[in-house]
Amino acid sequence: MPTPNHLGFTTRAIHAGEEPDPLTGAHGVPIYQNTTFALGTMERFDEFWAGSPNIWGYTRDANPTVDHLERKVADLEGAERCAAAASGMGVISATLLTLGAGGCHLVMADEIYNTANKLVNEDLPGYGIGISRVDITDLAAVEAAITTNTTAIYTEVFSNPSLNVADVPALAKLARKHGIKLVVDNTFLSPALYRPLEDGADLVLHSATKYLAGHGEVLGGVVSGSEAAIDPIRTKLKRLGSTLSPFAAWLILTGMRTLPLRMERHSHNGQAVAAFLARHPAVASWHYPGLPGDPGHATATRLMGKDGAFGGMMTVTLNGGEESIASFVESLKVITFATSLGDTSSLVWPIFGTDLVRFSIGLEDEADLLADLDNALERIPG
Ligand code: PLP
Repeated sequence: MPTPNHLGFTTRAIHAGEEPDPLTGAHGVPIYQNTTFALGTMERFDEFWAGSPNIWGYTRDANPTVDHLERKVADLEGAERCAAAASGMGVISATLLTLGAGGCHLVMADEIYNTANKLVNEDLPGYGIGISRVDITDLAAVEAAITTNTTAIYTEVFSNPSLNVADVPALAKLARKHGIKLVVDNTFLSPALYRPLEDGADLVLHSATKYLAGHGEVLGGVVSGSEAAIDPIRTKLKRLGSTLSPFAAWLILTGMRTLPLRMERHSHNGQAVAAFLARHPAVASWHYPGLPGDPGHATATRLMGKDGAFGGMMTVTLNGGEESIASFVESLKVITFATSLGDTSSLVWPIFGTDLVRFSIGLEDEADLLADLDNALERIPG
């Protein structure tokens, strides 16, 4: 049951998609950790095959715990439907294979998450899907890349790793003009900070592994939009065997109840760390759309409001370039040298083959993060 949308975002993060278990009254969603469901009668068997939403059959197709998660995400995104997958790459691959099917063409941002980038460059062409890569901040280039065969524009809202900012309302207008879909990966922000469907995007997806789950314990992915757009993606997820397990869904649900509180803190710490790094003499360049001076700042403040919060993701280069990275990452003590993002703990990750260092700023005390960075940056020439 959808929560009334007059309720605030934090209330809905806790209550949406959940109700006491109808059998036991259990408060909090139970983990339905089973593969199959007893039907009992031929009447229920027939209802199951007719697609009745209240008759469960087999967990790869649908499971009550996963369904609770999908309803919570759809509510928070302002979407009709959500489909969950075993990872962020699960939703990205199912979405792109669906939109590109039959030899269609996709216009893709030139910078996207590394494994998604490999999927687009190395796998999709083999399925006959046409791809054009564009600078997503150049609207004229995006429009010029659209062909009669194009079905979608795909971008991250804040890109991984350089934090390029996509102008979602302008891209949505362009997509509507050409009768195609705008698909955005909003992993770096989460619906607590920005809801792209409200700005005209057709589909929004996330690696739920990151901020939605929030504790670095589980992999998952979610994609949300209209029922008509989600149904074929859900079918693809089932056939590719990429649906989410009930236990993973339960962990993500649990994390999501505190999403707005965590994003407030990630953003507070992110802003403080970015400001510290931007003025540190050992830092050669930085990207954080929440700071004036970032090329995406004007667009980000238009999207999220001038009092908006911009999350905990940022990238820097250090004086001395790649040479300086090893001593820096190895001397951090509070910030962990590890991949991934959106965890409670702060993480640092050099982007392989470049001089970029990416931070996912966590929920620790701001003073401890600044002291840790100050200490590690001391070794780098100013
Ligand atoms: N999208 C973005 C922006 C990411 O950073 C990642 C992973 O880092 C993914 C998608 C893929 O998510 P997953 O690792 O859950 O497959």
